[in-house]
Amino acid sequence: MAIPIPSRQLFIDGNWKEPILKKRIPIVNPTTEEIIGDIPAATAEDVEVAVEAARRALARNKGKDWALASGAVRAKYLRAIAAKIKERKSELAKLETIDCGKPLNEAEGDMEDVAGCFEYYADLAEGLDAKQNAPVSLPMKAFKSYVIKEPIGVVGLIIPWNYPLLMAAWKVAPALAAGCAAILKPSELASVTCLELAEVCREVDLPAGVLNILTGLGPEAGASLASHPHVDKIAFTGSTMTGVKIMTAAAKMVKPVSLELGGKSPIVVFEDVDIDKAVEWTLYGCFYTNGQICSATSRLIVHESIAAEFLDRLVKWSENIKISDPLEEGCKLGPIVSRGQYEKVLKFISTAKSEGATILYGGARPEHLKKGFFVEPTIITDVKTSMQIWREEVFGPVLSVKTFTTEDEAIELANDTHYGLGAAVISKDLERCDRLSKVLQAGTVWINCSQPCFFQAAFGGIKWSGFGRELGEWGLENYLSVKQVTHYV
Ligand code: NAD
Repeated sequence: MAIPIPSRQLFIDGNWKEPILKKRIPIVNPTTEEIIGDIPAATAEDVEVAVEAARRALARNKGKDWALASGAVRAKYLRAIAAKIKERKSELAKLETIDCGKPLNEAEGDMEDVAGCFEYYADLAEGLDAKQNAPVSLPMKAFKSYVIKEPIGVVGLIIPWNYPLLMAAWKVAPALAAGCAAILKPSELASVTCLELAEVCREVDLPAGVLNILTGLGPEAGASLASHPHVDKIAFTGSTMTGVKIMTAAAKMVKPVSLELGGKSPIVVFEDVDIDKAVEWTLYGCFYTNGQICSATSRLIVHESIAAEFLDRLVKWSENIKISDPLEEGCKLGPIVSRGQYEKVLKFISTAKSEGATILYGGARPEHLKKGFFVEPTIITDVKTSMQIWREEVFGPVLSVKTFTTEDEAIELANDTHYGLGAAVISKDLERCDRLSKVLQAGTVWINCSQPCFFQAAFGGIKWSGFGRELGEWGLENYLSVKQVTHYV
């Protein structure tokens, strides 16, 4: 059942604040196409106020020194946030489903991960205390050296709409664990649950200014944050095109950035597989979250000897995917997040057709749904490597298929992309899997699966998919600066 969307303001300095220019952005429910509320639209003026609040939260010797608080103190707040998220899990999942169209059971799983991520970084925050002043072994006895890890400072966190609260957690939890003060800028297409995170922060009395949440348009609020001289780092997740803009703005101030960008990840299926299992991972890898996953394995590279049977079963399984209102029990595929994105996905499909590819399955709006931004799960064959559908990220439920005969050919096809986020290999031959894991150009290689992701394991890309790693210890290091202290003794 749908629930009302809370009306919220910007979250600055521990309080709700109306945007200075009083602008708001409508929220469109992607399932019904109705306007169901609005979010505040921050402008450069609000970014200014939020940056000042964040800097005050870090100010030394004024009783507000978040950065100098022990990791144990920060951990207490992260655990309190996790507990509140758990308490509100079911409501938050519904809000996220209504806002961005993902099936409710997926959103519920995301909320558990959000809480888990805050708990995980609470542990790491505590562990950080013990790692301070780590001695460095020097060749000269006259000197003694040690290392302090300090928070980078005020960080701007800019995130996309596909996992709104989870992407926020991946950045906010390690940033706060490290002792940074943060300004979070969610996507204008899905900000509702991020604003509820603000309410959670109020409820747990997070010190004012430690986390500020500014909803608003990318080119306005996002760009102001990225180019602000008193923001010490930008951690960005989103498209490669926006990543380039952010890097360009940051370069002018030698501001560090970490970029988690787009992908066009392959799944290579060898001839020795259990076909049903491989079909299952192929569908999951490409159609989970309506295909709106940066690391979606959207290029299937299947051995020629099993291709016909594999595609046959892929189509049969696709016929059984329930496409419906994402709040409905058993829904497996909800709508695309927005009209713009929906039209973009359909355009990709029509261009593939006009370039000579075959739509083996799907390719259109499902007939039984008259409203909402729904696209059928789509399987495209007769694909050439020069085609747009093979080369560009669709960010929708669209799978492009090519066949191969030799292992070398499979590797060449898999690496035939500017991107390098994920890659999956399905084969019973584990030596072969190991060989491929070494040569596939990706930040993550999945063997006999696709997409599993753990807080403990690093996530990130190479090539056009960006640089820097989130999650695990690497995620914490993103927000720490190393200071080396040397004594003459
Ligand atoms: P997007 O680049 O359009 O927007 C991402 C964020 O950047 C939003 O908050 C947006 O408001 C902001 N933004 C837009 N223009 C900006 C500008 N000029 N300056 C500063 N900020 C700006 O991406 P999207 O459509 O929200 O998300 C989809 C993309 O995100 C896909 O390419 C997908 O692959 C990528 N993504 C990557 C990962 C990853 O971990 N690598 C995860 C999820 C999504």
